[in-house]
Amino acid sequence: MASIALQDVSKNYGKVAALADVTLQVDDGELMVLLGPSGAGKSTLLRLIAGLESPSAGEVFIGDQMVNDVAPKDRNLAIVFQSYALYPHLSVGENLAFGLRMHKAPRAEIEQRVRRIAGMLDLDQHLGRRPSALTGGEQQRVALGRALVRDPVAYLFDEPLANLDAQLRNEMRLELVKLHRSLGRTMVYATHDQVAAMTLGERICMMRKGRVEQVGMPLELYRNPVNVFVAGALAHPAMNLVPCHVMTADGTKREDGALFIETGHVRLRVPTPYTPAYRTYNAQEAIFGLRPEDVHAEPSDPGWQAIDVEVVALETRGAETVLIAAIPGLAGFDFAARLGRHYRAPIGSMQRLYLDLAEMHLFDPRTTMAVPRDI
Ligand code: ADP
Repeated sequence: MASIALQDVSKNYGKVAALADVTLQVDDGELMVLLGPSGAGKSTLLRLIAGLESPSAGEVFIGDQMVNDVAPKDRNLAIVFQSYALYPHLSVGENLAFGLRMHKAPRAEIEQRVRRIAGMLDLDQHLGRRPSALTGGEQQRVALGRALVRDPVAYLFDEPLANLDAQLRNEMRLELVKLHRSLGRTMVYATHDQVAAMTLGERICMMRKGRVEQVGMPLELYRNPVNVFVAGALAHPAMNLVPCHVMTADGTKREDGALFIETGHVRLRVPTPYTPAYRTYNAQEAIFGLRPEDVHAEPSDPGWQAIDVEVVALETRGAETVLIAAIPGLAGFDFAARLGRHYRAPIGSMQRLYLDLAEMHLFDPRTTMAVPRDI
């Protein structure tokens, strides 16, 4: 087993900076998810760890060893890519055993490991079959198994489930969590799928344009996103992010008293615990953030603040209804609320909603960074 670390790593392809100054520590035995849109640099980061590319600057460590000059085959890592190729003329069992045979592992050991992994991945009954006789999902499991059957210090996954249909993807995700638990190995898993990241990751490394935006446990990123990008990326529907004006009751630059935010024609009172932190933005523009799950149809808590909005659309999702609303006086921004599955309202009507502003966020519109609340 081994930790993996990158220290000030950059990777340039000509003028393209695929990675810029990335520092990241993956602990021994940890499952770290690299999350980010296409082009964020996730694959490049995995390829640098694997040694398939060398960094333009910086250092890569596996355990205590700096591995910049260590060949890929000597790093003892297993990699699973999105596009996998099984040997069509070999059986499933032979496909699983292939890497071990190449490394000249003893026959009995090969057999034992293949059986164990085949059992874990529910492939026992397919060991004698050719890949062409398997479904896409089973083939993907064989590809996973081929990596898992080895005994590397760490596993790297590059969107390994992207080609599967939704149900199988959910099943395999659960399998991977179990595998991680039973193998206890360091795993780095790259994906653009935020649901996968939230459910799989012990920690998430959120990336964009070759840079690390935030690293933390899934709920840490969900509750305390450091900037607008992370706030908008981690849930669906994402956090509502609307422009606002921060002000005192009389619109002055007073240093005390209540603080408000105004968005469109709506004025909301900033919860008292947050006023010291947010007062630095008094008389300035900011971005107001509130998750759709913190917007309610009923005033169940006396602290929630009422606003009247216009119903733009209702998405019936079965377990819940998502209301897409327009805030009066605020054109061009949707405001979403995750409401009960029985919620109904006519499109175009005005409806009252209740905001739990204890969960609010404020962002600086120039830097897009969150304004820390705990001053
Ligand atoms: P991700 O895996 O997050 O989609 P990648 O690591 O594949 O991102 O790519 C990061 C950036 O580096 C992209 O802009 C991509 O076009 C560029 N890039 C990746 N590999 C190469 C390459 N071999 N040659 C040139 N540019 C590349």
